[in-house]
Amino acid sequence: MTLPDGVERRHFDSEERLATRGPTVYGEPTDGEWRAWDARRSKLGATFEKGLDTGLEGDDSVLYLGAASGTTVSHVADFAGPTYAVEFAARPARDLVGVAEDRSRLFPLLKDARKPDTYAHVVESDLDAIVQDVATRGQARVALENRQFLAGDGRLVAAIKARSEDVTAEPADVFAEVLDELEAGYEILDTERLEPFHDDHLALVARPK
Ligand code: SAM
Repeated sequence: MTLPDGVERRHFDSEERLATRGPTVYGEPTDGEWRAWDARRSKLGATFEKGLDTGLEGDDSVLYLGAASGTTVSHVADFAGPTYAVEFAARPARDLVGVAEDRSRLFPLLKDARKPDTYAHVVESDLDAIVQDVATRGQARVALENRQFLAGDGRLVAAIKARSEDVTAEPADVFAEVLDELEAGYEILDTERLEPFHDDHLALVARPK
């Protein structure tokens, strides 16, 4: 597994866990400046645990779609460069703003990820990575509409939640459809299901075509 600079495996109470350096956010165990990154609460953490080569590197510029209250994006902002965090629900976004107060590289945006024109004036272009965890219907479409922000050699690292697309369909069928739709703008580099950390989720790494 290739971890970005700034992400390490460390021991917390004799258990080896991913960790980043930064102020605590969700009551996670700490070891000095290091704080444990709980893969069961984070699809990106689980993506690292499952061994996907995300292509993410320390100091990357990142657009994070579906930031919620900041659990995962706080870890991203610990190791990455400028991190733009999009969340459209007001309540979690309030917590996200609190998380950003402690992190100078984290920029919360109370925006709809299906409407990138509403934040295109704030987010820089030629980003190194989009990290997506929106858990909403139309996850491929969200990734395609935000592709404009990625550099030619940038990476999309996404978690696709099958039940957000169709609660009754077989997850494998949903994933096949989402990957097929993504091919319109991305070359898929790797995929892996996120069990046992997250049921019925597919992690994927792609680059823009
Ligand atoms: N990524 C978060 C983490 O690990 O800390 C958890 C994200 S949660 C599974 C999905 C989030 O995506 C929710 O907070 C939801 O409000 C947000 N979301 C769904 N559709 C969205 C959209 N179109 N624009 C922005 N946020 C969206």
